Amino acid sequence: MMDGLTIDSGLRREPVSQLNEASVPGRRGWRLGAAPGAPHDRDEETGFLEAAAPDRGLFADRPPALPELSELDVVRHFTRLSALNYAVDGGFYPLGSCTMKYSPRINENCAALEAFTELHPLTDPADCQGLLALFHELESKLNLLLGYQRFSLQPAAGAQGEFVGLLVIRAYHEDRDDHERREILIPDSAHGTNPASAAAAGFDVVVLPSDADGRLRAGTVRRAAGPRTAGLMLTNPNTLGLFEHEVREIAAAVHEAGGLVYYDGANANAIIGRVRPGDMGFDVCHLNLHKTFSTPHGGGGPGAGPVGVRAGLEQFLPGPLVVRRSDGSFAWEEPAQSAGPVHAWYGNSLVLLKALAYIRTLGGAGCREASGMAVLNANYVLRSLDDLWEPAKPGPVMHEAVLTGKPLRDRTGLGTLDVAKRLIDYGFHPPTMYFPLIVPEALMIEPTETESRETLDRFVAAMRRIHAEMLDEPDLLRQAPQHAAIGRPDEARAARRPVLTWMQQERAEPEI
Ligand SMILES: *Cc1c(COP(=O)(O)O)cnc(C)c1O
Repeated sequence: MMDGLTIDSGLRREPVSQLNEASVPGRRGWRLGAAPGAPHDRDEETGFLEAAAPDRGLFADRPPALPELSELDVVRHFTRLSALNYAVDGGFYPLGSCTMKYSPRINENCAALEAFTELHPLTDPADCQGLLALFHELESKLNLLLGYQRFSLQPAAGAQGEFVGLLVIRAYHEDRDDHERREILIPDSAHGTNPASAAAAGFDVVVLPSDADGRLRAGTVRRAAGPRTAGLMLTNPNTLGLFEHEVREIAAAVHEAGGLVYYDGANANAIIGRVRPGDMGFDVCHLNLHKTFSTPHGGGGPGAGPVGVRAGLEQFLPGPLVVRRSDGSFAWEEPAQSAGPVHAWYGNSLVLLKALAYIRTLGGAGCREASGMAVLNANYVLRSLDDLWEPAKPGPVMHEAVLTGKPLRDRTGLGTLDVAKRLIDYGFHPPTMYFPLIVPEALMIEPTETESRETLDRFVAAMRRIHAEMLDEPDLLRQAPQHAAIGRPDEARAARRPVLTWMQQERAEPEI
């Protein structure tokens, strides 16, 4: 076809047989002969070697109900399953707010060195000076890139970083005997984790309305801030992909009221090497190393959400922190008034090492170039589609483009969900949908800096073709995806009545 598109997601629509269904009584992976003279009996029926333990009463009276299969059956089963999963390594994954960019293999290789993977957390600091030196270097580089005094590397995710940052804000006010500050101000465009973290940290959430152009105004903050304000949480660029122009005035308004300003740095991909939240007036910030600094993520996989603070707040961070002694050696140290540990040991150390490898391989200039490419790519997609899809707010945008499918839904009856499902047929992972909540029929596209122009052009061509299909062949969207492993699951049922095991399918389904 002219635009090089094919209707093939690469995912065959075949039922995936369960291992239990493929089970054949007596089939085995391997058969081991009993070692000569070994104190084992072979169970004739199951083939299992059973230790000739003195107390056979402790044994189960029958072998476990596991599927009986050859090794090849098992290898093929899991290899097929892995190919049914959509991943960045397989194709374009423009999931807005998630920064699903490609993570160079060199970072994986560095973190996979045995010297790191085989270290025990209880190793004496004297015997792992190299690791401590690297953590110290990572912290110094994050301080420099973001404009902070200290970073705790311990939090394991963005949401946990937010929670830690809020504990730091609480500790700051309590340390000043200022106990009335129970409120956290959060704009209505915020990621859902912001109000959730504030509530989890014991604060009341005050939602601030964004302006018609999708930004928070300093006047709105000034009116809301007062003696009950503990702080404000702000994402910049915000979840509409827009830079908050009044960020300095907003920070000043919160500070004048006695509160602190928190930077949700999950979108730092757009600003690294260009502006620093520390310079924009943010007292506390978290980063998503698994978005901005090279760790593939999704499915709740291991991440890191380090928390940075300006001078004067470092004593409240969770410890331990790495310090450099006057003799040049490194040691662990607990901050004096720490809000307490939030993770075992030092955090997800291998994710931290990948981030350092990423920063080192790119250097300062490379990080700056990466954020520039992220912004360029998002604007390229926006401008390639804005004659067909209405931008949620006037651009230009930063690292992601938010479109609204509302006019198209009014015209065709087809919504953003239908567009997303049809994109699967064209082999793309759908963008984030229906978020931010303030945009009706939102489609939030974050191409990231690691995609080529050719890939972006293919995605744009698919979107334009889908637009034509919406008008001419709407059933193609209604029935999509037709070329995926499964069609459209009933999402409410999947959430409320999840079938997580093979056994469960055989039981009568409980009433919702
Ligand atoms: C991803 C994200 C978070 C949460 O990060 P997790 O690591 O998923 O907990 C918070 N805020 C914004 C803006 C995000 O995009």
